[in-house]
Amino acid sequence: MTPKIAKVALPVPLDKAFDYLVKPGTSPVVGGRVRVPFGRQQLVGLVIALTDHSDFPLNQLKPLNAVIDTAPLWQPPLFSLLSWASSYYQYPLGDTLANAMPALLRKGRSASPATLKYWTLTEAGRDQPLTALKRAPRQVQVLNILRHGNASHEALLAEEISSATLKTLAEKGWIAEQQEKPRLNDWHKDFALTEEKPRLHEEQALAIATINANPDFACYLLEGVTGSGKTEVYLNLLEPVLAAGKQALILVPEIGLTPQTINRFRRRFNVPLETVHSGLNDTERLSSWLAGRDNQAGIIIGTRSALFTPFKNLGIIIVDEEHDASYKQQDSLRYHARDLAVMRANKENIPIVLGSATPALESLHNAKTGKYHHLQLTRRAGNAQVARHGVLDVKGLYLEAGLSAPLVAQMRKHLTAGNQVILFLNRRGYSPAMICHECGWLAECDRCDAYYTLHQQSGQLRCHHCATQRPIMHQCESCGSTQLHAVGVGTEQLEQQLATLFPEYKTVRIDRDSTRRKGALENYLEAIKNNEYQILIGTQMLAKGHHFPNVTLVALIDVDSALFSNDFRASERLAQLFIQVAGRAGRASKPGEVLLQTHHPEHGLLQALLHKGYDHFADNALLERKQALLPPYTHLALFRSEANNSDHNVQFLQQVRSIFESNPLFNQADEHHKSYVMGPNPAPLARRAGRYRWQLLLQAPDRKTLQRMLAIAKPAIQLLPLAKKVRWSIDVEPQDL
Ligand code: ADP
Ligand code: ZN
Ligand code: ZN
Repeated sequence: MTPKIAKVALPVPLDKAFDYLVKPGTSPVVGGRVRVPFGRQQLVGLVIALTDHSDFPLNQLKPLNAVIDTAPLWQPPLFSLLSWASSYYQYPLGDTLANAMPALLRKGRSASPATLKYWTLTEAGRDQPLTALKRAPRQVQVLNILRHGNASHEALLAEEISSATLKTLAEKGWIAEQQEKPRLNDWHKDFALTEEKPRLHEEQALAIATINANPDFACYLLEGVTGSGKTEVYLNLLEPVLAAGKQALILVPEIGLTPQTINRFRRRFNVPLETVHSGLNDTERLSSWLAGRDNQAGIIIGTRSALFTPFKNLGIIIVDEEHDASYKQQDSLRYHARDLAVMRANKENIPIVLGSATPALESLHNAKTGKYHHLQLTRRAGNAQVARHGVLDVKGLYLEAGLSAPLVAQMRKHLTAGNQVILFLNRRGYSPAMICHECGWLAECDRCDAYYTLHQQSGQLRCHHCATQRPIMHQCESCGSTQLHAVGVGTEQLEQQLATLFPEYKTVRIDRDSTRRKGALENYLEAIKNNEYQILIGTQMLAKGHHFPNVTLVALIDVDSALFSNDFRASERLAQLFIQVAGRAGRASKPGEVLLQTHHPEHGLLQALLHKGYDHFADNALLERKQALLPPYTHLALFRSEANNSDHNVQFLQQVRSIFESNPLFNQADEHHKSYVMGPNPAPLARRAGRYRWQLLLQAPDRKTLQRMLAIAKPAIQLLPLAKKVRWSIDVEPQDL
């Protein structure tokens, strides 16, 4: 007997499941999708339980409209991970599950590869003279395409052919729709290495042996400078996994999914490989999801969201550049893909390797406390060598577009020797503000608490926080003066200044503005490799994952803004950038040099970093965090509230504050078990796109206390009348405060 009631999680912002009647003759499954009436809408939801009991009278329940899946979408470990994520990140289960599905599945598309349909030409269609169809160019186009081979429905739609055209042709009997058979292939049969591998050096061999010794869950932090052979370790770890017919998941940062990375895995193994990233369209996304689930991919390499790929038989997870900030999702389900990957490995009971030259302080802390196994590669493979570095004290020096004379002189030396130079500046645009020289007025976005960034090339003032842009004005809006000056230096200004200083060299700027077009970044990177540019200007974007052997000088133009930032993670990010670029500059025959411009050469963290290395810096930084009661020594949750009416934010967050203060867990007498709540305070950007933004920070001594306090408080917060007037969210373990 099928149970009478299905409890369904729906993509609605409510922390509960909804009861529906199961129609006789239908068999929904737990973990499978159903279509249900919800208010006036039809929604796709997921059955989380089948039961005979409901708290509501049966005659008040509506029946399920349709059963979509006959089997669960996810195997138990992944389903359990998603439920865990929903509760840990305080995000409704229905929304969390929807978040983890490819868009087409969210819309109710079948999760069976058998339904991939394609169009083919019939005999009659093949014989049809195209000249007779002059008046129907779209039909001609379809026949032409299909004469070269079958095409999927989506592919034809992408050619701007309408479903109506296809229907007409089908009715004429010239084309026919076919169902593609699931051509499940067993790649495991053909598994082989397809290239020779280098002889491992001792540290690599030791790391691999350690990890391979235990096929069960364990988390390894693989720390090794760029070029120390981490990727070679990953490749070696995959070998026994794939040979056993199991699959591998490799997570990379957003910018790290380069053809070079992918090709290294393709070259080594004769197994199907899929990539998952934000550039995929809906069909491609579903297809890689299915490839994982049906074991049609041995390796999946992808960014953050690839973590939610189902696998038939996952054997290992690798998180490359585990410290990268792009692993944290900044909206809806605010998860950290690295942390969630560790949890997934735990639930799947398989090993996970976190690799980085500059591990996150959280990960180093976990390694030091024995939660992770710490493996180190201290040597560089091949014949690369570490760059020299120096600090340029710019106190009292004249800076032209941010450049000091000693830096310009160094640049000239390296350029004259035929090498390339990189300048890092994490600020795009011409200048971060425009000021009136007569009265001090600053051009400010009307909708945000922020100055306009001056973009001279496009002749615009742009707000980097909302979409607002406007032509550059010629007169001060306060006093009418025409003396409007740029304040501060952005990459665009630096580029212009360098063209004046070094007219004989070509300069390229890599930032979000210059690489907006698809493929632009790849083209620039290729041109840099081919020495078409000698001076490279970049934001952080340029630092990640790229290796330019001809770059021998790297300069960090503005170190002070990171050393003295409000964001407690800024110095960690500076250190990571420094180590990354120092690791990439030069090679044995051409030693590299890294220069840092600062007004504070004596700064403790800077000194530790430069003279004793990243680990020493990390020890000092961790000590500072411990003294300041910051993560990883405490655990944070950030409440954000946004509204057109600023008072609503403040009142709402004050009420949230009281809810916490009345929590018995909150008022622990013991000094070490105290929690704190800070705020409400204006957010770093206090107004964005016309809406006021406030925040409240909750700090707990440990993760469990934080979770328990949130679990108790959340239902009470949801009942606050103001909770409906503001847009609010909870960010557990926030990355940006
Ligand atoms: P990482 O991922 O740490 O930057 P890679 O694995 O990419 O390091 O290694 C850097 C370079 O050294 C690559 O060209 C790689 O092929 C080479 N390499 C790695 N391990 C070895 C080894 N044991 N012997 C020789 N070359 C190696
Ligand atoms: Zn704005
Ligand atoms: Zn003025």
